[in-house]
Amino acid sequence: ESALAVLDRLCAVIPDYPEEGIVFRDLTPVFADGAGFRTVVEALIEPFRGGFDVVAGVEARGFLLAAAAAYASGTGVVAVRKAGKLPRETFSQDYALEYGSATLEIHKNDLAPGTRVLLLDDVLATGGTLAAAHALFERAGTQVTGIGVVLELDGLPGRERLSAAGVDPESVHV
Ligand code: 5GP
Repeated sequence: ESALAVLDRLCAVIPDYPEEGIVFRDLTPVFADGAGFRTVVEALIEPFRGGFDVVAGVEARGFLLAAAAAYASGTGVVAVRKAGKLPRETFSQDYALEYGSATLEIHKNDLAPGTRVLLLDDVLATGGTLAAAHALFERAGTQVTGIGVVLELDGLPGRERLSAAGVDPESVHV
């Protein structure tokens, strides 16, 4: 079964979640399916083979993908966390949400300068989350050589935003 077929079969579509007018794509049934999860993770890392030294995932669903991708690739994994969770000195990046703002952080000294980072998340919507994560790795002196998502939501500016920041994202499914 192809990754596209897995996603079409298992991704749940939830109208009016978390609020009215939003159509939420829920990938938890994909993660819960052994063969499906493996197929989707393989498709997610395929465009980047050999081009990264470490995989980073954005809290929280990105952690599941990044850990699996790193294990499959034989690399380490880095958690891009929400504010206040990391115990040592951090780089910290604020970004806008639909209502209000949020902050992402990484530890300052976990990665050597020049490390090639593959940055992953489950869904690309406006691109604000991945643009903030990208900015963190740039500030750390590392190089984001790839951005991958399982689902890219159509009709939102995520792709343009990340391309403007210098990395064209790859998505398993649009
Ligand atoms: P963005 O910052 O691109 O607008 O939103 C992406 C972030 O919000 C990702 O971390 C993603 O997990 C979450 N997100 C936004 N929309 C959806 C959705 O429909 N389904 C899921 N699973 N996550 C979403």
